[in-house]
Amino acid sequence: MPPRPNFAEHRERVLDRLDSDEAVLVVGAPNRLRNGDSEYRYRPDSDVYWLTGWEQPSVVAFLRPGSEPLVMFVADRDRKSEMWNGRRPGPDGARSDHGADVAYPIGELEAQLPRLLQGVRSLHYAFATDPDMDALVMASVKKAARAGRDLGLGAPETFHHPSKVVHEVRLHKRADELELMRHAARLTAAGHAAAMTFARPGVFEYEVEAALRQPWLEAGATGDAYTPIVAAGANATVLHYVTNRDRLEAGQLLLIDAGAEVGYYACDVTRTFPVSGRFTDAQRQVYEIVLSAQVRAIDACRAGEPFQGIHQTAVRALTEGMVALGLLEGPVDDRIEDESYKRYYMHGTSHWLGLDVHDVGTYAQSDGRRKLAPGMVLTVEPGLYVAADDAEAPAALRGLGIRIEDDVLVTEGDPVVLTEAIPKSPEAVEAACAANRA
Ligand code: MG
Ligand code: MG
Repeated sequence: MPPRPNFAEHRERVLDRLDSDEAVLVVGAPNRLRNGDSEYRYRPDSDVYWLTGWEQPSVVAFLRPGSEPLVMFVADRDRKSEMWNGRRPGPDGARSDHGADVAYPIGELEAQLPRLLQGVRSLHYAFATDPDMDALVMASVKKAARAGRDLGLGAPETFHHPSKVVHEVRLHKRADELELMRHAARLTAAGHAAAMTFARPGVFEYEVEAALRQPWLEAGATGDAYTPIVAAGANATVLHYVTNRDRLEAGQLLLIDAGAEVGYYACDVTRTFPVSGRFTDAQRQVYEIVLSAQVRAIDACRAGEPFQGIHQTAVRALTEGMVALGLLEGPVDDRIEDESYKRYYMHGTSHWLGLDVHDVGTYAQSDGRRKLAPGMVLTVEPGLYVAADDAEAPAALRGLGIRIEDDVLVTEGDPVVLTEAIPKSPEAVEAACAANRA
């Protein structure tokens, strides 16, 4: 079983950054219907989970420096409802197992929040997510202001998005979270290896998807970190292809972008490999260009360097490759300047990774840049995509989509690739594919 994160430490780190007249209010995610009256499997809101470890709907957490820093509002015990939907920890469980100093049934929120907001000048709360909750918060602020006037206490007059403090702390991972992310990387590696072994001409994308997911599902992952992309041939040039219903043909490449979610922490990996087990010369030429771009971009993931430098490094390497392949005409600097490389590389190179696959944390600070720091985890995922009907591209390259994506931890020293166990060099990929093709 993966370890539990250190939720108490997460709260401490947030409380350390708050003044005594600041508070954080986070609200749980609702159950969501998939179709009819059938619900998706519940996935907690990441801020709520990260602060409290609470894994069920109907929860609000209020955090403020002081003698009772964590107040929770949670679904009350209910014998009949629990018979249908499972056990509820209730307010007692919030106190005993989730660090709440005070806990109420969720129905008490409207009555208690105005009192909690008295004396709070700045409230960190994500407006415009849930209109009903926004209305309740605004009404509570109004009541707090009215009551506070008589008592000489203030009420919230400044509002901040959670990105200002909570997400800034979430962006910097500590040992407890990195252990879970390494665990997710191990299960993801097992899945990608299984897919490389299983894939061959004649099988369907969904069969590969099943082989891919089995290792992490049977190892107790909380699920897929996102819907897996299993894209054969030209399907790989559709960036968010998730249909996964086509047949694999000899001579195609197969692009798989998929990762396990372990303890709600995401892994996000892409590998591209030959369905027949061996790259053609043209495929290998493009693959090596993308790989070289990725290796150079990973090397840019260093403390003190700007986040934006990773993408700039990848774009330069890929544009050099596009000119070498005859996709673009040089000089390289001009093609970067006029952005014509975007015809074949149209997405960003990196995003933060954590509880959310596109994790929280801003990418630009006040000077427009973001400096990398130890503990940040991000993806590095350059690619090259040539549409099947691109009449301007050399015929041998049309319909080719290649992306290589790893998860990288920024450290004081060299970048650490959390997902390095997954075959990546052309030789390692061919060897992994050969396992089932004797
Ligand atoms: Mg991905
Ligand atoms: Mg990604």
